[in-house]
Amino acid sequence: MPKFVEVLLDLPIDRSFTYQIPDGMEEKARIGHRVVVPFARREMTGYVVETLDEVEATYTIKEIKRVIDDTPLYNTQTIALAEWMSRFYLCSRGEALSMMIPGGRRDSSIPALESEEDLLFGRVERLSDEQQHAIDTILKREKPMYYLYGITGSGKSEVFLRAAEAIIREGKTVIYLVPEITLTHQLARQVTNRFSQRVAILHSALTPSQRLKEWKRIIAGEVDLAIGARSAVFAPFPNLGLIILDEEHENSYKSGNTPRYHARQVAQRRCQSEGATLVMGSATPSLEAWALMQENKEVGSLHLRNRVSGGTMPVIEVVNLSYEKNLISKTLQERIKETLNKKKQAILFLNRRGFSYFFHCNSCGYELRCPHCAVALTYHKGTEQMVCHYCGYRTKPMRVCPECNSLDVNYSGFGTEMVEEEVRRLFPSARIARLDTDSAKKKGQVGKVIKAFRDGEIDILLGTQMVAKGLNFPLVELVGIVLADSGLNIPDFRAQERTFSLLVQVSGRAGRYNDQGRVIIQTYHPENPAIQYALRSDVQGFYSQELEIRKQTGFPPYSRLINLVFRGRNQQKVEQEVQKFSAHIEQLTVNGGAEVLCSSECPLEKIASNWRYHLLVSGVQASLAHHLVAKALSDYTPARGVYLEVDLDPLQL
Ligand code: ADP
Ligand code: ZN
Ligand code: ZN
Repeated sequence: MPKFVEVLLDLPIDRSFTYQIPDGMEEKARIGHRVVVPFARREMTGYVVETLDEVEATYTIKEIKRVIDDTPLYNTQTIALAEWMSRFYLCSRGEALSMMIPGGRRDSSIPALESEEDLLFGRVERLSDEQQHAIDTILKREKPMYYLYGITGSGKSEVFLRAAEAIIREGKTVIYLVPEITLTHQLARQVTNRFSQRVAILHSALTPSQRLKEWKRIIAGEVDLAIGARSAVFAPFPNLGLIILDEEHENSYKSGNTPRYHARQVAQRRCQSEGATLVMGSATPSLEAWALMQENKEVGSLHLRNRVSGGTMPVIEVVNLSYEKNLISKTLQERIKETLNKKKQAILFLNRRGFSYFFHCNSCGYELRCPHCAVALTYHKGTEQMVCHYCGYRTKPMRVCPECNSLDVNYSGFGTEMVEEEVRRLFPSARIARLDTDSAKKKGQVGKVIKAFRDGEIDILLGTQMVAKGLNFPLVELVGIVLADSGLNIPDFRAQERTFSLLVQVSGRAGRYNDQGRVIIQTYHPENPAIQYALRSDVQGFYSQELEIRKQTGFPPYSRLINLVFRGRNQQKVEQEVQKFSAHIEQLTVNGGAEVLCSSECPLEKIASNWRYHLLVSGVQASLAHHLVAKALSDYTPARGVYLEVDLDPLQL
């Protein structure tokens, strides 16, 4: 009977700690169990990764306080995955294990799955040749990975679902990953309908204990298919046969907390080590995936070129806002009118919520900013508040300048609330609804609005990402993108890619089921390449050009970036720490192949009272950047009050 255990803790320390098993607890303290242990004068949850009959120690070994679970939560596979994560993402094994279990942090702030409404589309009897070919190819499994690149509305979900059914018939299990937003809508219900009870839906509104229950059902072999957002990639299936990664380009697949894993990379690793197949899909693959498709023989690329439900691709027009007085241009107004006359529906998209931005004094130049973050506050008319979208800080709106008392102040920029006001003014008899995280705060609201829209009770639906993604509505003929530029001015090498992808995805909501689809893109930069390529629906053209630029500038996918973010409340301390680390890593870079690109304050230098500085490491060969950082971190501990976050392949700097 083992008397001791090795335990990992959720701390940035990559070593295990030895504890003694109290008498009578031997049966319960096994590998994969969570235990409560004393650590540095407090109690912590730990994960048992090894049992020992005896240990040699020169110190007193403390005892486990208690064992948390009746059955183990981790098996050797998940523990091995955590080991891989710790090497790849440069975190500790304990942090990786803790990230996997459904303990706590919710995936996102997107509202929950709502059960009352039925948003179901029936099972498709009528498959297209392209779909059939894709399914047949996937099921042959001649390659470890497939990419289903198909235009919006080409019926990718049906391919995924059929492949899943076939794999389950073989007695294997399936993980189906989708962005959280898709889960809240149609797909989840479709999945439950097909696979009945043997499904686990891992959405963000489950409480930790509900998630744990689902997790245990999976371990117990009661589930064939788990559908969920990012963290469902860890679903502890024995006998995994297939991982599906829908909307592969979505940023929400990357974790915002340590370890900052990407579900695509973890899925790839799991499939490789567990002998499963990975199938990804999107109408706008990430540039990383696109490069993989071109260059990697391991990836089978499948192409769906046609829409399946009777629609053709929409006609797209660009409107130059520089010549417009109104935020809804004359052209867009005309198109909305036409659409309403035909009793069809319109979606208006804007990537910013709130009413307006930037409170500015024309007399003294004062700008109202969040006291805790390096950002301007947003004016919310509905609640009569100025709000920080980063830390939630709120204050009363101002009519006079707090610095000089001048009345010559103005608000500029616009968000969804202002668009709503404007659209109501222009189309007083239309039925209008707004969907964004503000309007969705009320429980049940999202489902209600979506159902009403689908049932034709709303004429114009306007909002943020929530109206842009994953929705399929038969009556939608017009999509208006109110301002396509919001992401273009950001100093980020992915700005073009993001804008392009968003434009194509949003446009894809129009005319899915008929050939009258129209899209209006409003912009101040009509000549911008992302907008021009989107206008021509030239996805491949955009990728070729963008890949060429990345190649020339040495950015991913042609290099590996690792962002080291130092944060803390004391600005001076954080700055000193970055300088210290910079000097340390510079000493190690003599061999070349990897270098420090910059060491400075982050583009967003303060969030929630934490000052942020970063050091960006780049390596033309991925492994060299990796080795350099691993080496620099191996004998390094940040000063007290300074925290370090390692972000491999960062999506945001
Ligand atoms: P994508 O994910 O490629 O944008 P979806 O999978 O959402 O497209 O499919 C769009 C719509 O077409 C869905 O309502 C789906 O039920 C329907 N559909 C899928 N395959 C077919 C088919 N072969 N014939 C007719 N309709 C189909
Ligand atoms: Zn002033
Ligand atoms: Zn703030």
